[in-house]
Amino acid sequence: MIARSLTSGVEQLGDMIAQASSIVPFTGAGISTESGIPDFRSPGGLWSRNQPIPFDEFVARQDARDEAWRRRFAMEHTFAKAKPGRGHRALASLYRVGKVPAVITQNIDNLHQMSGFAEPDVVELHGNTTYARCIGCGKRHELDWVREWFHRTGHAPHCTACDEPVKTATVSFGQSMPPQAMRRATELAQHCDLFIAIGSSLVVWPAAGFPMLAKECGAKLVIINNEPTEQDEIADLVIRHDIGETLGPFVGN
Ligand SMILES: [Zn+2]
Repeated sequence: MIARSLTSGVEQLGDMIAQASSIVPFTGAGISTESGIPDFRSPGGLWSRNQPIPFDEFVARQDARDEAWRRRFAMEHTFAKAKPGRGHRALASLYRVGKVPAVITQNIDNLHQMSGFAEPDVVELHGNTTYARCIGCGKRHELDWVREWFHRTGHAPHCTACDEPVKTATVSFGQSMPPQAMRRATELAQHCDLFIAIGSSLVVWPAAGFPMLAKECGAKLVIINNEPTEQDEIADLVIRHDIGETLGPFVGN
């Protein structure tokens, strides 16, 4: 059912939140646009102008790795200055009072952690771009270290432990979904009584399967997104409005 207006949507959402004991939010790019992070997938977005570098190319070619890091540092200003928006803060408020056990996200921007979620309670399906990992041994490397290497040599770095390439800790095209995050997201979707999909067009699989799974397991489903999504028809409530406006009233102390 699509909410008639923002006011009635917020009111219905408030009732559903009050009645729920375990709420699982699932977030996509739309929650972070208020924080200045562009939606890479949107028409005219970064990815329509700059084809993403697939994982196998990154592994195979030094020039692909150099280009990947050049692009990442070109975006650094955007990521470094981003602060949690009203959507992030509302979810963090519900987390603090014990209504939300964890958040599932398609975003790589670290804003849920910045808003107050403990690191283990942010289930990142596409990884995190605010640090790096070795693709061989998995060792974590900080961006400052990568930047220093990049500027000194003009090339993407190799791991100090095993000499394999180092990549942002994100899931690239052609790379498999992180199994632990997938498992945790599945369990969360199966055991909540309210699932709220926020700012995702729900087209990217397998991530988009979670709202449907939650619904099948008996949860109520709310979808908050500016545009229609693939799963509006199965939702108990659809709020087709700005995310900051919709979730702003739920920002607590
Ligand atoms: Zn390594």
